[in-house]
Amino acid sequence: MSGKDPDYGFETRMIHAGSQPEPVTGARQTPIFQTTAYAFHDAEHASSLFNLQTFGFIYSRLTNPTVAVLEERIASIENGRGATCCGSGHAAQQLALLPLMEPGERFIASNRLYGGSITQFGKTFRKFDWHCDFVDMDDPEAARKALTPKTKAIFVESLANPGGVVSDLEALGKIAAEAGIPLIVDNTMATPYLCRPFEWGASLITHSATKFLSGHGTVMGGALVDSGAFDWAQNDKFPSLAAPEPAYHGLTFYETFGDLAYTMHSHAVGLRDLGATLSPTNAFEILMGIETLSLRMERHCANAQRIAEFLEGHEAVAWVSYAGLKSSRYHALAEKYLPKGAGSVFTFGLKGGYEAGLKLVEQVNLFSHLANIGDTRSLILHPASTTHRQLTDEQREASGAGNDVIRLSIGLETVEDLIADLEQGLAAAAKA
Ligand code: PLP
Repeated sequence: MSGKDPDYGFETRMIHAGSQPEPVTGARQTPIFQTTAYAFHDAEHASSLFNLQTFGFIYSRLTNPTVAVLEERIASIENGRGATCCGSGHAAQQLALLPLMEPGERFIASNRLYGGSITQFGKTFRKFDWHCDFVDMDDPEAARKALTPKTKAIFVESLANPGGVVSDLEALGKIAAEAGIPLIVDNTMATPYLCRPFEWGASLITHSATKFLSGHGTVMGGALVDSGAFDWAQNDKFPSLAAPEPAYHGLTFYETFGDLAYTMHSHAVGLRDLGATLSPTNAFEILMGIETLSLRMERHCANAQRIAEFLEGHEAVAWVSYAGLKSSRYHALAEKYLPKGAGSVFTFGLKGGYEAGLKLVEQVNLFSHLANIGDTRSLILHPASTTHRQLTDEQREASGAGNDVIRLSIGLETVEDLIADLEQGLAAAAKA
């Protein structure tokens, strides 16, 4: 079935999109094409592949048949035109900006992103002379105020890691469209099952497939999805897509490939030169994960809702930030953008502060103390002493990772067992 088939439902596409029985052997499951290169039919075939005149496989840094099935599947479940898979979520973020940014240019990002993204955008990207303006997007107009003539994109997480912050995608989509730049949405925490960013005005979506898409804590992976709807020639801001490309004999991606221009560029230039390729074995694992995505997300959300309600009533807990709770300031936005559930990653604050946080993560048995989210297993973390260590106190507070904060990623276990584990952990933490 094709990537953008409107006739099939979400669950059908998460199982079938992009795959068919393998034509030579009839293998029904997508094979792992563990190969580096692909034999050309003849010399003419080789040159037309290199000139981008024929679609096909050359070298697995750019394209691979197993990865291609995954790309079509992710594009389909996000209702996008095309997707590019890569080695991690961070690689997807770099790949996303490459066709948009020149040295000296800027993009705007929410100040409530995953801590690693704040470091990548604020520190490492500066080495490319790419500059990020972080703003508090609780007021979307703050993004408009931060626009400059050199701004090339607005970047947010649909549901932010870790604070349970929900972005007002429709408002931000309008601001981006008026400025003639794309809204990029990291949809990792929500997944396409819970949130549909393209329906609200996003033009590009990034994923850490390391999380819920693969879903079992086994592999690293990333994906970049293009809606295909953005007009790259509406202004002169995007020469990599709308002006001739010297490395391909003056070919203009947008003119030649139309709504596939961005995805073609991300393979033919982005993966070729950044080299952040996804391995076919990891692509296979992510495909397996996506086959059960809707079922897992339903249970993740149901368990998280129960646990958030339990914590909200607990005497050792100062506050709970879960958009599924009526007390959350993001509850109304969650009802609009995440109607099937508010995800399974959220934070809460311990009255006992930093010390109580350290005690709790050591005391729990079923929860694994580690730096990941989106596993079948429940996970626990004290961000201030781990993932958010490299940030300043101010950045930590702004991203919802202050000293008293505990982050949970609720898994698929029996919810009563998880509550009992937290109950005994909180009792010990209160004594600390
Ligand atoms: N985006 C979000 C929301 C994340 O939580 C993470 C990692 O935790 C990333 C991006 C980066 O993904 P990866 O670790 O696959 O590079």
